[in-house]
Amino acid sequence: MARITLDHLAHAYKPDPRRAEDYALKEINHVWNQGGAYALLGPSGCGKTTLLNIISGLVRPTRGRVRFDDLDVTDLPTEARNIAQVFQFPVVYDTMTVRENLAFPLKNRHVPRDRTARRVEEIAHLLDLTRVLDRKASNLTADMKQKISLGRGLVRPDVAAILFDEPLTVIDPHLKWQLRSTLKEIHRALDITMIYVTHDQTEALTFADKVVVMHDGAVVQTGTPDELFERPAHTFVGHFIGSPGMNILPCRVEGASAFIGSERVALKRPYRPLVAERVELGIRPEFVQLQPKGVGLPVHVRRIDDIGRARIARVEMNGHPLAASVPDGISIEGDEASLVLDPRHVHIYANGHLVTDESAGGHAA
Ligand code: ADP
Ligand code: MG
Repeated sequence: MARITLDHLAHAYKPDPRRAEDYALKEINHVWNQGGAYALLGPSGCGKTTLLNIISGLVRPTRGRVRFDDLDVTDLPTEARNIAQVFQFPVVYDTMTVRENLAFPLKNRHVPRDRTARRVEEIAHLLDLTRVLDRKASNLTADMKQKISLGRGLVRPDVAAILFDEPLTVIDPHLKWQLRSTLKEIHRALDITMIYVTHDQTEALTFADKVVVMHDGAVVQTGTPDELFERPAHTFVGHFIGSPGMNILPCRVEGASAFIGSERVALKRPYRPLVAERVELGIRPEFVQLQPKGVGLPVHVRRIDDIGRARIARVEMNGHPLAASVPDGISIEGDEASLVLDPRHVHIYANGHLVTDESAGGHAA
């Protein structure tokens, strides 16, 4: 078991990388604490698999070091790293039985036969594979095969970490939920560092204690699901997480006011003058309320969707589309209405990055 440190890590698949675009991973500095349940979340192509393969040793990074506790493993092969990895598509030996497949990683490491047998039974039970233990893997469904792959990843109790690379892609939707809960239970029981890669925010937020959000080869934020919701460090996190995502609007900031065109929005504190190409205001739809015309910022209502737990209005303000919550009891006549923004949840972004108290000063000097 180990704490995993990524130190100035960067990777380019092409030889002789020069520009930022040449890198699949830009510089990454990150520490995965021993025993954490992490999700690595980001859209397809942002570098998740590359990062995982560098941790497991399948890919050697162009620059930077990987450490397990104080041991530098950057130059060690996969076998010497004590990592279990579960891939997107099942990796099973078709000619072996399920039992033999599950036992394989232990047999390979010369674990005594009775201990192996006990452990295999245990894992099979957790994954609901007991009744197929003596069947050949070749005749099983894709779901079953992926459960065997998961089992092979989980069977070694001595690993430094288990890496899951979108492991539920081939799994039937109703089984997904169940397997995710199983993984969570296993995490609690085993105290092993788990890194779960996904592009699905629901999967990430339900599995993980800490979510690491990647965008374009870089880690843009690490936080609890609440932190990512309340205080997105980057506009990408704001609109990638949440449904609908955060509203992001170009604006101009003067002291404790932001201006969207000529409309003024109150901020919770004054800001120093911002020197940035792009200044934007971010607020989640949950904190924007639709009200009758005349109460707040004037908007044009396009439609109102009932999404079960709430009503969401799609509106337009100065030509910018926005999503807002429709409070119970509010009814809007015609398509003219107004918005009320909760200043405590209005964030300001400069070139995509959250302007914090530290970066911009709490009060204008
Ligand atoms: P993700 O897992 O988040 O979808 P990947 O790590 O697979 O992202 O890919 C990151 C980037 O690196 C993408 O632009 C992808 O095309 C590129 N890439 C991935 N694997 C290779 C490879 N073996 N050779 C060249 N480019 C690759
Ligand atoms: Mg991938």
